[in-house]
Amino acid sequence: FTEGLEAISDLPCVTLDEHRLPLWVNTGLMTDTVRSLDRGAEGVGLYRTEVPFMLRERFPSEAEQEKIYRQQLEAFSPRPVTMRTLDVGGDKALSYFPIEEDNPFLGWRGIRVTLDHPEIFLVQVRAMLKASVGLDNLRIMLPMVTSVFEVEEALHLIHRAHGEVLSEGLPVMMPPVGVMIEVPAAVYQVRELAQRVDFLSIGSNDLTQYLLAVDRNNPRVADLYHSFHPAVLQALRKIVEDGHKEGRTVGICGEMAGDPVASVLLLAMGFDMLSMSATNLLKVKWALRKITMERAKEILDDVMTLDNSQVIRSSLELALCREG
Ligand code: PEP
Ligand code: MG
Repeated sequence: FTEGLEAISDLPCVTLDEHRLPLWVNTGLMTDTVRSLDRGAEGVGLYRTEVPFMLRERFPSEAEQEKIYRQQLEAFSPRPVTMRTLDVGGDKALSYFPIEEDNPFLGWRGIRVTLDHPEIFLVQVRAMLKASVGLDNLRIMLPMVTSVFEVEEALHLIHRAHGEVLSEGLPVMMPPVGVMIEVPAAVYQVRELAQRVDFLSIGSNDLTQYLLAVDRNNPRVADLYHSFHPAVLQALRKIVEDGHKEGRTVGICGEMAGDPVASVLLLAMGFDMLSMSATNLLKVKWALRKITMERAKEILDDVMTLDNSQVIRSSLELALCREG
């Protein structure tokens, strides 16, 4: 399917009525990078830094990390690259840093781990900052945030790392810092979080899991995992509205962003960018280039009156089929 769409690789992601919606890519391996550049990705909305950590037998050193991050930043330069700080725990394990818990998704994961281990966080942030010297296309993003306190502590550490790199004589700019909105508590604190950072990005994989109390990896409850659940859609709309009230850009980097059917709703909600795996870039662009913002808003208004995820999904598919 994607092969037939190569003709639109170099065309912008723009609706029939000229509304631009930048498409960014999620990366982790260098192979993702080449494919996504070929398909016209305008930036990296999520570089999962835990991927290179998972491929090793011990923590990569600061110099090793700097080299890995530099490759990403160079490959996409001058496009922005959003590097998420280490997001281990939950379903992402490091063999050399075992975490054993009864409820790992409700346990020690993401920013909770790195704030308890500032030495890991500081090494990583210093490596990111050093890797960005002369490129200045780095953005730093914090995973699994549930309170403003965590953001304040992380910002304090990022400023400290920045000061340390400057004192080594390296001319590094302070990068934009953002927060992932992927926990229900954060949905209700979007404005307070937004006041402290430069951008927001929704992790709809975890947000769906936590809002619906459905383990994202458990096949027994997979039928209940619905990103089109009315509660999820209401949360997404509220996050965009509240983020915009604080003048921040709001993106989304969960799997939902790469679903062409969902992308029409996300366009209508006012997202500033969608970030997805490279395989979905052309499908989403194709869907968005065939619709107007006006029509997408009508579809969103209709969908928001429905109270059942299955009905929402099928009425969306029907509406998009009618568009041709
Ligand atoms: C998410 O939770 O939606 C997300 C993008 O992060 P990850 O899938 O890596 O948890
Ligand atoms: Mg997540």
